[in-house]
Amino acid sequence: MLETKNLFKIYKPKKGTPVTAVDHISLRFPEKGMVFLLGKSGSGKSTMLNLLGGLDQYDDGEIIIKGISSKDFDQQRFDSYRNTYVGFIFQEYNVLEEFTVGANIALALELQGKKASDEELNRILKEVDLEGFGDRNPNELSGGQKQRVAIARALVKNPEIIMADEPTGALDSNTGRQVLDTLKKLSKEKLVIIVSHDREYAEQYADRIIELADGKVIRDVEAVQADEAAQEASLIFRSTSIEIPPDYHLTEEDRIQINAYLDKLRSGASLMLPEKSQRFAVTDESVIPQQDGSKFSLIKSKLPMKSAFKIGKSSLSHKRFRLVMTILLSVIAFCMFTMVDTFGSYKHIRACTDSLIDSNVEYVSVNKSVRRGGGIDIWWDSNAVRISEDDLEQLKNDTGLEMNGIFNPRGSDLSFGSQYEIDMTKYEDGSYPVVIESFCGFTEVTQELLDDLGYKLAAGNLPDGSKDEIAISAALAQTFVEGGYRDPVSKEDALKMHNLPRVERITSPVGLIGKKLLIDDTEFTISGVVETNFDISRYAKLGESEEKLSTTERILRYITQAEYNVAVNNSLTGCAMVGKGRLQSIIEKEPEIYPEIGSSYVGLYLNSKNELWGSSWSQYYTTLDKIPPEDIVWLDGEKKELGENDFIINMESFNIDGRDMDRDAINLSQDIAQGKKEIDEESLKTILKACEKGTWKVNYSYQDENGVYRHEEFDANIVGCIRQSSPYSPALGISQHYADQVIGDTDGLYASAISKIPSDRAGIEAFVRWCYPEDDDLTVRYSLNHAVTYELDTVNTALKIAAKVFFFIAIGFAVFASLLMANFITTSIHYKRQEIGILRAIGSRSADVFRIFFSESFIIAMINFVICTILCAGGVTVFNMLVRKYTGILVTVLHFGIRQILLLFIICIAVAAIASFLPVRKIASKRPIDAIRDK
Ligand code: ADP
Ligand code: MG
Repeated sequence: MLETKNLFKIYKPKKGTPVTAVDHISLRFPEKGMVFLLGKSGSGKSTMLNLLGGLDQYDDGEIIIKGISSKDFDQQRFDSYRNTYVGFIFQEYNVLEEFTVGANIALALELQGKKASDEELNRILKEVDLEGFGDRNPNELSGGQKQRVAIARALVKNPEIIMADEPTGALDSNTGRQVLDTLKKLSKEKLVIIVSHDREYAEQYADRIIELADGKVIRDVEAVQADEAAQEASLIFRSTSIEIPPDYHLTEEDRIQINAYLDKLRSGASLMLPEKSQRFAVTDESVIPQQDGSKFSLIKSKLPMKSAFKIGKSSLSHKRFRLVMTILLSVIAFCMFTMVDTFGSYKHIRACTDSLIDSNVEYVSVNKSVRRGGGIDIWWDSNAVRISEDDLEQLKNDTGLEMNGIFNPRGSDLSFGSQYEIDMTKYEDGSYPVVIESFCGFTEVTQELLDDLGYKLAAGNLPDGSKDEIAISAALAQTFVEGGYRDPVSKEDALKMHNLPRVERITSPVGLIGKKLLIDDTEFTISGVVETNFDISRYAKLGESEEKLSTTERILRYITQAEYNVAVNNSLTGCAMVGKGRLQSIIEKEPEIYPEIGSSYVGLYLNSKNELWGSSWSQYYTTLDKIPPEDIVWLDGEKKELGENDFIINMESFNIDGRDMDRDAINLSQDIAQGKKEIDEESLKTILKACEKGTWKVNYSYQDENGVYRHEEFDANIVGCIRQSSPYSPALGISQHYADQVIGDTDGLYASAISKIPSDRAGIEAFVRWCYPEDDDLTVRYSLNHAVTYELDTVNTALKIAAKVFFFIAIGFAVFASLLMANFITTSIHYKRQEIGILRAIGSRSADVFRIFFSESFIIAMINFVICTILCAGGVTVFNMLVRKYTGILVTVLHFGIRQILLLFIICIAVAAIASFLPVRKIASKRPIDAIRDK
C-alpha cells in the first residue's frame, strides 16, 4: 500500500552544516497493522513520517502510494492524498483551539465533501471515549482528551493510513497507554504508523518495528506468532542481566551457558522475567503484496462555503475587541469616504432636481439667454433677451410644459410706491418691513392655471380680460396691509408730495378688492387676491439692520436677498395678473425701444477742456422710424432720416453739470427730466448752448465679425430730443448704422415664463436637464429661474471645484479604510498560520483555507458596509436638513445614492478578498509542516 524507494531528505539550514535526516530509506508498509518508527531523538523519525504523509518534500527517491509514484505530485495532489488516505496525529495534538471538539471533527469530514451528521460524530466520539464532549472547547480538555480529539479527527474520514508522531509524548504513561490501545484497535483494519522513541511501548504494541539512527534503518523486525516465538525463543544475555522469554523452560544446555556467563561476569547478574510479550523476527517485506495503482483515486478536498462561513464566523468571536476597533475605525474612514464622495459626485442637475422636490416647489420659471462673445470670452446674456411666442411653442414641444409668459414692458415703471406709505416710526433700530414694491410684469391668469399651480383665490374674483382689472398675489397685498392704500396720483403730484389723498388702512386682502392701482399710466382695478403660497416671512430678516450681522450672516443675507429677487420677479407672486386676452393690448402699447446686445453700446459724452461735463447714456435705443413724430422736439427742424452720427437724445438719461456751465440750463434739464416741465425747441437750445464750450462725442463699442470688441469715437450731432411724456423717452434715438450693431433681440416678448412643475421626479429631472444642456455649441438656452436653483447656480462653480478636490480626498479615505481592514485581516491570518498548516495537514487545499479566511473577512466587510450605508444615508439626510434649517438656503446639495452604495460594497468586498488572498496564498504555498512549526 505504501512504499518508499531510496527516500532521501537533507536539511540545509542557512547557518551550520547540512543534516541528512532521511538517508536513502527503502521500505514497504503492509495494508494494516501497527508499525513503529523507533529511534533516538534526532534520528529522522519525524522527518520520515512527514515525508510519508506528504507534509514535507523529499529531495530524492520516491514514495509509492497504492502502486502510484508520487514523483510528479504537486502540493495540491499531496493535499488530496492526505485528504483521501491519511489521518495525521501530532504530538502537540494540533487541535484547532477556536472550534469545539465537534467542529474540529466535523471539519475533517466536510473537507471530504461529506456532511457530518450528529450520529456520526457521536459514534466517533464514543470510539475515542469522548462521548458527550462534542460541544466542549479544546481548552477545557486534558492532554489525553485533546489527543483523542486529534485521533477522532483523523478517524472520522475513515482513512486507510493513520500517522502519529509521538502521540504519547506529552502524556503520562497511563493516558499514553489508553491512546495506544485506541490506535492498536484501529490497526486491525488500517495501517497505523507511529513515531516513538519509547522501546517499551514499541515492543509491547508494534506489529513491526523499524528502528532508525542517523536517518538510516538499522533494524526492521516484525512480530511473530507466540508459539512460533516460543519454539525459537532462547535466553538473552544482556550486560548485567539474563532475560528469560515467557513460557520458557531451562534446558541442561542453558544451565551450562548461564554458568559460563556468570563466570565471565564475576559480579552476579539479575534474572529478568519479562511479561509475556511478543517476539520479533527480521521483517520479510517480500510477503507484502504490491499494488498496480488501479485502486488509487483521490478525493479533492472541498469545503462547502457554508462551513467555511461558519468557521469564519466562529473564529471572529474570539477577537472581539480588535474586531470592534477595526470596524469602528474603518467605518469612520469609509463614512468619510462616502460623505466626501457624495460631495465629489455633486451633480448640478441632480442637486437642482432634489432641491426643487425637497422645497415643495409648485412652479418652474425660466428665462432665456443667448451666447455672447467669442473665443475664450463667452458668457450667457439674459438681459437683452426675451422669450417669444415661438419660443414658448418650442418649450412646449421639448418639455411638454405649457408655459405662461410674464411680460414686462420696456422702459415702463411698474412700481406703485406712491400708493402706500409705511409708517417707519413703528420700526426701531433701522429695520424695515420687507414688502413687494413693484410688479415684475403682466401675465394672464385663468382658473386652470391656478388649479395647475395649486393656488387659490384668497379674495375677490379673477380679472376680466375685457376690463382693466388685475389680480395680485397675497404676498403683494401684504404691502398694503403694512403700508395702507392711497388712490392713484399723477407722477408729478407724487414727486412733489403734493395733493396726496389720504392713506386708508387695509386690514386684509379683501379690503383691496375694487381699489385701483396705477401701473404704467393705466389704472387697473384689483378684482382678486391670489394666494401664491409665497412665504414672505422667510425673508423678514432682509429688513433687519445689517450692522449687527456677522460676516457669515451677511453672506447668507446676500444670498437670501438674491433668492428673494429671483422668487418675486419670476413668479405669479410679483405679477400683475390680467384676464385672458388682456395681455395682447398691453403688449401692443409697448414702445419699440430695445436694450443693447452683449457689450455693444453707443452713447454720448461731452468732451471739453473746461470745467464742464455732460453725457447721454440710455438703457434703450430706438430709431427714427419707430418714434411717433409728435414725440420729438427737433433742434433745427424735422429730419426725415438720421445721419450716421445724428442722435435724438432724451432728458431722462441726459446729464450736464460743471462750474463753467450755465446753472439755469442745468436746472432746466433736471426739471424736464423729472417731468416738472415739458420740453420745447427753445429749452432744448438753451440746454445745448450751455455745452457749447465742449464738443459732443460718440462713444461706440461693438463686436466685429471676428467676435473682437472694438471701440471708436466720433463727433456727435444732437438733432433733437424725445418728449418726456413719450413712452419712448427712456431711449436714445440712433441712426441705422449704430442700430445694426447695438440693438439686440427685437422679437421676444416675455422676460420669463412660468409653468406648474412636472408631477414626478423623472419629469422634473428631464426639465432641469433640458434647462442645463451639456451641449458646447449651444447658442440659446433657458435657465431655471427659481430661488432654489438660483442658489445652486451661484455655488455651482465652487461646488464643481470642491467636487474635484473631494474626489481625491475620498480616494485617500478609501485607501486608509482599506488599509485598516486589510491590516486586520492580514494579521489575523498571519496569527493563524499554524492553523492553516493544521488545516492543510488534515487535508484541506489552499482554496479551502482561502474560503475560510475570506468568509471571515467577508463578514467584517459586510458589517462595515451595512453600518456605513446606514450612517451615511442618515448623515446626508441630516446634513441637508441642517443646511436648510440653519442657513435658510433652499438647496439640497448632497445626494447619497446607488453610486455610493455600490462603491462602498465593491471596495469592502475587494479589500476583503485581496487582504485574505495574498497572505493565505503565501502561507498556503509553504509546506504544511513548515506552516505548523512556524509559531
Ligand atoms: P526525530 O523526529 O527522530 O527526533 P527529526 O526527523 O525531527 O528527528 O530530525 C532529524 C534530523 O534533522 C535532526 O538532526 C534534526 O536536527 C534535523 N532537522 C529536523 N528538522 C529540521 C529543520 N526543519 N531544519 C534543519 N534541520 C532539521
Ligand atoms: Mg520527532
